[in-house]
Amino acid sequence: MNYKNFPMVPRVIFGRGSFNQLSEIISPKRLSSAAPFIYLVDDVFKSNSWLTSRISLSYDDRIIYISTKEEPKTSQVDTLVEEIILSTKARPSGIIGIGGGSVLDLAKAVSIMLTNEGETRLYQGWDLVKNPGLYHVGIPTLSGTGAEVSRTTVLTGPDKKLGINSDFTPFDQVVLDPELTKDVPCDQWFYTGMDCFIHSIESLKGTYLNAFSKTYGDMAFNLCQEVFLNNSALSKEETEDKLMMASWHGGMSIVYSQVGIAHAMSYGLSYVLGTKHGIGNCVVFDHLEEFYPEGVQLFKKMKMKHNIELPQGICAQLSEEEMDAMINIAMGLEPLWENALGKNWKKRISSKQLKSLYLKM
Ligand code: NAD
Ligand code: ZN
Repeated sequence: MNYKNFPMVPRVIFGRGSFNQLSEIISPKRLSSAAPFIYLVDDVFKSNSWLTSRISLSYDDRIIYISTKEEPKTSQVDTLVEEIILSTKARPSGIIGIGGGSVLDLAKAVSIMLTNEGETRLYQGWDLVKNPGLYHVGIPTLSGTGAEVSRTTVLTGPDKKLGINSDFTPFDQVVLDPELTKDVPCDQWFYTGMDCFIHSIESLKGTYLNAFSKTYGDMAFNLCQEVFLNNSALSKEETEDKLMMASWHGGMSIVYSQVGIAHAMSYGLSYVLGTKHGIGNCVVFDHLEEFYPEGVQLFKKMKMKHNIELPQGICAQLSEEEMDAMINIAMGLEPLWENALGKNWKKRISSKQLKSLYLKM
């Protein structure tokens, strides 16, 4: 057996208001006055001085606001990297991502692409990155994806949606300040939170599970139940704190295992219809009782408790070609199916079954 040796985030700070310590944390990493820190910030914060006024800019430091209407693309990373190279006198001291999974992934990818040649799409895959990226810091403002802790950055390229999985991808520093999530709208809170719940179920029910993944998966699973079923009447602050830690544990759990069927099928939806990750996972998971009976039952309970209405019939208008493309994308994610259904997964799932599942969504 050849066990994988994973990198982890080497430094993390947790606490309400810990965002105020950012400048103290990063200042020793400044390489020179000509080497700025570049902040990639979700544009939802553009007019939110509560957050942006606390970013202290020195020398040539700058904020680039990022639209998250669509999920990150390899071409978007290329454009950002070019813009940064053209506008700075020296290679930046670091990249700081402030936002949900989309902005965190962009920050990781930009840090890598500032030190590696060629186009971003060439690095989609496993261990294709040659040089360490720039110092990069992740500051989540939305909890659930686990992007703050993972070894990948998920990008849509010209011919696939696939992460840059590498030892250089994880953040050098993460700031976990649950207060930053206080204004997330309820439906988005639910969708991204369910991403974490689904990570825990797919990891815990998968064949790749080991004790390392199980301990993290159990933690994420229990925290999500506390947060989303909230039978112990937690305060808003407590749910924010707990969901941020659930996200971390969910991410840690899949480091050593894998996600499963909901993610495979949701990648198909995303590629063909542009459905975003959180809501796409919810739409799919709602129909997977055959594979994850206990998890889906809990999911439906949570959905009801928070009055969440998922879109219906999103695949009804697809052409034959689009449906085939969707099935191919989903089926192509072999490790996800193998984790979910075992080595003989090809005998346990067919294109026909996938099509009938998609048509229910
Ligand atoms: P997101 O980053 O796309 O953000 C969703 C919405 O929430 C946006 O409109 C954003 O503006 C808004 N938002 C974020 N923080 C807010 C705040 N504090 N207040 C108000 N609004 C706020 O959503 P997400 O679900 O966090 O991330 C999805 C992305 O993460 C996808 O691209 C997916 O592929 C990726 N992902 C990556 C990993 C990984 O390991 N790298 C894992 C899972 C998902
Ligand atoms: Zn996910």
